[in-house]
Amino acid sequence: MLLNEEIKLDYSDVLIRPKRSTMSSRGEVYLGRTHKFLWSKKEWTGIPIMSANMDTVGTPAMHKILAKHGMITCPAKHHLKKNINKFMSGKKNICWFGGIDDISRLSKISSGFIGLDVANGYTIRFVDAVKKLRNKCPKATIVAGNVVTADMTQELILAGADIVKVGIGPGSVCTTRIKTGIGYPQLSAVIECADAAHGLNAHIIADGGCVSSGDIVKAFAGGADFVMIGGMLAGHDECEGELVNGEMKFYGMASKSAMNKHNNNNHYRGAEGKTVSVPYKGKVDDTIKDILSGIRSACTYVGANRLKTLSKCTTFVRVNNTHNTIYGNE
Ligand code: 5GP
Repeated sequence: MLLNEEIKLDYSDVLIRPKRSTMSSRGEVYLGRTHKFLWSKKEWTGIPIMSANMDTVGTPAMHKILAKHGMITCPAKHHLKKNINKFMSGKKNICWFGGIDDISRLSKISSGFIGLDVANGYTIRFVDAVKKLRNKCPKATIVAGNVVTADMTQELILAGADIVKVGIGPGSVCTTRIKTGIGYPQLSAVIECADAAHGLNAHIIADGGCVSSGDIVKAFAGGADFVMIGGMLAGHDECEGELVNGEMKFYGMASKSAMNKHNNNNHYRGAEGKTVSVPYKGKVDDTIKDILSGIRSACTYVGANRLKTLSKCTTFVRVNNTHNTIYGNE
């Protein structure tokens, strides 16, 4: 047994210190990024926020709105089997995820990004699957995850991933940390994996754990090239699911709800996700504008006139958690 006593941080453990700035308005901030990918050599320009590939949020209606903002949609896995053509608008702003058994399906997709997405990206079988997908699709921009440490980030990149998805346990409907005790504080995971990936000219996605635009800001400030959100997009008109008494259902992809829906039950697999009811939030376009306004505002507070320079302009300060809980939430 080993014990690592270094302090590791979640988004709620820090704030960003304001700095002198020459900017006079948040309208001056450019939120677009252009990323050139290590293996595919392709370039992508847009606002680097992604919807999670979860049942209720990874919908064609969500894709229509996110693509308008230059953001990426990751369709829920079941669409990969039968509904690829429903996601037509803004084809470059789409990332199709599948599991290890979906390699041949994924390799037939010719636009946007493709990715292999498993709860535990630490197995040899997963690394072999990434290599296999890269061999089959030398020109595709490939995402692989999830992991939370620098060593495994580099291993997946060397196996052929352009982008590594980072996060084990931080998700709003995830119960992995409770069920298994496994996880890693998300801000530290992002900082450490981004550093490892950038050293190899590759990229990372900070996946899960953002409950506010401030958390998205902290993920970018920590070095994330993309930020993936699920719960923040739940409860909108563009989501799948019924509106009952002003609330909509949202569930983890490893929850009982998802297992029952996709007939994915077996005797050794227990749920590592839960089902919650989220308040109805109206049009996702309004939520997106609110998120973007929060990021712009953060950039003006630290003197970053582009999202690209936010990380360089950031000094995190550690905060007392109690204080953050009382005053940090709207
Ligand atoms: P959120 O933005 O809601 O905090 O997190 C979304 C992320 O949670 C997803 O992109 C995915 O990585 C993760 N996730 C989704 N469903 C489950 C689940 O059932 N179990 C676990 N452990 N993680 C999940």
